[in-house]
Amino acid sequence: MKNLRLVILGRQGSGKGTQCLRLSELYRTIHISTGDMLRAAVETQTELGKKAKIIMDAGDLVPDEIINGIVAERIEMNDVLESGFILDGYPRTSAQAEALEGELLSSGLSLDLAINLEVPVDEVTQRMLDRSRADDTEEAIQRRLEIYENETAPLLEWFEERNNLIVVDGLGTEDVVFSRLQNVIDGVISGN
Ligand code: ADP
Repeated sequence: MKNLRLVILGRQGSGKGTQCLRLSELYRTIHISTGDMLRAAVETQTELGKKAKIIMDAGDLVPDEIINGIVAERIEMNDVLESGFILDGYPRTSAQAEALEGELLSSGLSLDLAINLEVPVDEVTQRMLDRSRADDTEEAIQRRLEIYENETAPLLEWFEERNNLIVVDGLGTEDVVFSRLQNVIDGVISGN
């Protein structure tokens, strides 16, 4: 099977993280979650982690230069070059989308597909309040959703113009959503 290179977009609380994990296992590709990488840095209290914690707790975005550097480094690692990737939580701004495009171009790689996992705002707000993660205060949730609409939603058009962008309905059980994603990806892999 060919290596998948895939970007998944979707609001916070859309279930992206869980689905990406399952997809990365099924398609034997590497799940790259910028949120997970940042949380790991916070956990081990690296310099980056100390800076990132304050920003993440407020629901703001870590500066583009920092996150672009982290992702560029990861994308060039052997496991990712060999197995492909599912990018989860990146890109989130147009500067990040441009950096990703440049990064892939210079490595001679391209994206197979971008997916928008669509879940309405009311539903994701409720889900985030229910999961009670440390950085999920009501203010931070509002702030993150606002940033998503302003900074990340415009990227849907960017991907639509450049790649295959497919919208997948994120409402339903985890298994139902998973098989929707699988159908879409299988369709692209087999050239439909
Ligand atoms: P959520 O989808 O709920 O925001 P993530 O795990 O994707 O959760 O991200 C957690 C936090 O990490 C974000 O609120 C943001 O502060 C930071 N972060 C993650 N990815 C990026 C990114 N691509 N650019 C800037 N900041 C990011």
